[in-house]
Amino acid sequence: MITDILEKNDFSAADLAELISAENNDDIEFIRNKAYEVMRLHVGEEVYYRGLIEFSNICTSDCYYCGIRKSNTVPKRYTLTKEEILTQAKWCAGEGYGSLVLQSGERNDERFIEYLEEIITSIKNETKSVKLPDGLGVTLCVGEQTANNYKRLFDAGAHRYLLRIETTNRELFEKIHPETQSFDERVNCLKLIKEAGFQLGTGVMIGIPGQTALDLANDLLFFRNMDVDMIGMGPFLANRNTPMYIKGNDSEDEKQKIYRLSLKMIAVARIFLKDVNIASTTALQAMYPFGREEGLRYGANILMPQLTPTEYRKDYQLYDGKPCIDEDADDCAECLEARVKFVGRQVAFDSWGDSKHFKSRVAKSQ
Ligand code: SAH
Repeated sequence: MITDILEKNDFSAADLAELISAENNDDIEFIRNKAYEVMRLHVGEEVYYRGLIEFSNICTSDCYYCGIRKSNTVPKRYTLTKEEILTQAKWCAGEGYGSLVLQSGERNDERFIEYLEEIITSIKNETKSVKLPDGLGVTLCVGEQTANNYKRLFDAGAHRYLLRIETTNRELFEKIHPETQSFDERVNCLKLIKEAGFQLGTGVMIGIPGQTALDLANDLLFFRNMDVDMIGMGPFLANRNTPMYIKGNDSEDEKQKIYRLSLKMIAVARIFLKDVNIASTTALQAMYPFGREEGLRYGANILMPQLTPTEYRKDYQLYDGKPCIDEDADDCAECLEARVKFVGRQVAFDSWGDSKHFKSRVAKSQ
């Protein structure tokens, strides 16, 4: 029984898989309510924003699922100038968003790292205010790097890093990546990110063809074993210009299934991991217009409003159906706050909203 499992203090892989597999509406509602209660108790009801700037789609990797993989010739490749990024960062600080995420394709060359260092330093210096004495909180999502690069980016002032493991099923990982990428190297990178001093975020795609409920349960166990601070998960949504696109595989039934699975994964992650930050990702909204608000109702506490300048958004489509590619950040800001209020939550402005898990992890190690 789902209710019996929810009473437990700890969960086995089989328990987690059973929760994730719940199909009955009453059972799902029990899980959602439990997740909400755990969220309220451990991280509170506030929602934190991280303005998302997709600053470059140039990528040296070739992940089979990703719309900006290097072999895809459809997107026009771009990199924002430092000034373009600073304009967005200042807008973000002015709106009271306490943090931003700098995301891009993967590059490891010296020029890229220097450019990033310079951008991080400028953002930190130029967004300081009475409310944010240390400037915006900066999260990076720029893929696999060397230990030295992670260290340099941390020293430049970024303090959170997201790198999804994508799936912890090693065979599946190998199926969706070219041979140049390895599961062990990805895990090693997660360790290096933490060693560099970052708050560590990871996550998986949900609904990858061939992925089972037990795989997802093992993903949750992996998050706990890695002692991660933040989780960003979302549905796998095929991009038609990638090898993982299968024509005719986008029936309404299949879509509903992956959508519900994604919401359940958020809820079960909240119940299991308690005090981590969990993002309700844009990919949920790409499936259904109120997907992101639903994510909040299932225990997420982070939203990532789009701050990529409008003219570049069409060239940063990791998956098909990305929402808001024609709107600018002002439109999104108003719309988003109304949506958060609609589900009975408040946005916490002018604060970084660091992961509570990170704070207790650091306190424990001292
Ligand atoms: N290069 C960086 C950031 C860009 S990709 C990195 O590797 O971290 C960011 C995330 O988008 C990936 O980790 C992946 O989980 C997600 N993503 C890419 N293609 C996707 C797709 N087709 N459906 C759903 N999520 C996708």
